Amino acid sequence: MIKYDTVLIRYGELSTKGKNRKLFVTKLLNNIKTSLDDLDNLEYRQTYERIYIKLNDNDPKVIESRLKDIFGISSFSFTQKVDSNIDMIIEACYQASLQQSGTFKVIARRNDKSFPYVSDQINRMVATKILKETDHKVDVHEPDFKIYIEVFEDGTYITCNKIEGAHGYPTGINGKSLMLLSGGIDSPVAGYLMMKRGIACEAIHFAAPPYTSNMARDKVLSLAKIISKYQGGTMKVHIINFTALQKAIYEHCHDAYAITIMRRMMMRIAKEIAVKQHCLAISTGESLGQVASQTLESVQCINEVTNFPIIRPLVTYDKEEIINLAKKISTYETSILPYEDCCTIFDPKNPVTKPSVHKAQELENRFDYQAYIQECIDTVETICVNMNEVEEDFL
Ligand code: ATP
Ligand code: MG
Repeated sequence: MIKYDTVLIRYGELSTKGKNRKLFVTKLLNNIKTSLDDLDNLEYRQTYERIYIKLNDNDPKVIESRLKDIFGISSFSFTQKVDSNIDMIIEACYQASLQQSGTFKVIARRNDKSFPYVSDQINRMVATKILKETDHKVDVHEPDFKIYIEVFEDGTYITCNKIEGAHGYPTGINGKSLMLLSGGIDSPVAGYLMMKRGIACEAIHFAAPPYTSNMARDKVLSLAKIISKYQGGTMKVHIINFTALQKAIYEHCHDAYAITIMRRMMMRIAKEIAVKQHCLAISTGESLGQVASQTLESVQCINEVTNFPIIRPLVTYDKEEIINLAKKISTYETSILPYEDCCTIFDPKNPVTKPSVHKAQELENRFDYQAYIQECIDTVETICVNMNEVEEDFL
């Protein structure tokens, strides 16, 4: 019987080199440790090419489900570690083959160039033993199972499994962004995609109490908790009380421009919070053409308020693609709960689809919006959520 005792983690093999690679691996290892920190007795080791975790009797299933969600991992395997000795390697591979059925292929990789046999020789020696002792046949094109052998100086890792990782970059390696998080389907997906590019996220949410309820607010916090698992399990959420400013907009500005101006205000506030929190960009769940206000003219009019970078990862996505991703990352069921958003509360009948910057400025200048913005920033409430605290109701 082969006993898997070590997880072998592979990452960004070609793209990252030199100093960047060191940063990449250090960050990835940190993210992995954070994600597994409730498990005792794991032993970590990192090399230029791989991260190894010695299991010490921890449950592989738990580790598998956590590792699958960590960005920066291209694939991983549960392996048995044996001495780098050809007889031991052959025996372990033979034992591994006994737990499998059908045709096979041996894939050896000799990372330790001082090992006396090249990959091809290892492949053949292992295959010869298995062909002789079992009914398995070789099929190099479409094998039913593969035996992977990785020979290193400190030992050789043997496995028949290779589990697909989440790819992307270790979250946090590319800085931090402030995510505009509504209670909808799109923004949590956008946050997930930012994290996949290695960008950590804090969230900002605009609430309009008492028009928006505590349930709506809790829903947003739950979404933040769910996606926080993709960045190590925690996330800061900044909640802005938007009611007074929103009312002022409706009082002073033309109805058709209310959504546009509301978004311009959101960006102004988000930018201030982003700078305070050392975020390098703002991100949103907007995509083009989904709703009347998401036109290029609208994007232009919103962006005009700041030259701070605004990233819209979903800009080219279809709604169906977004929904599929939302299901994959487990935010969908929470997002479709029917609580109101501040945008829907004051939903104008005919929002302008091609707003002009000039007109927006003219409307805004009818009131002292800067004072309202300052009040929003001064009264921000910051909550740090944790992925282990998702309430049942919101799952
Ligand atoms: P979502 O599903 O993310 O709500 P949507 O398709 O409903 O998106 P809009 O409601 O027009 O589109 O919002 C576009 C984007 O603006 C959202 O993805 C989000 O990033 C931001 N946004 C909207 N409302 C809020 C809010 N109350 N708080 C924070 N961000 C918001
Ligand atoms: Mg919405």
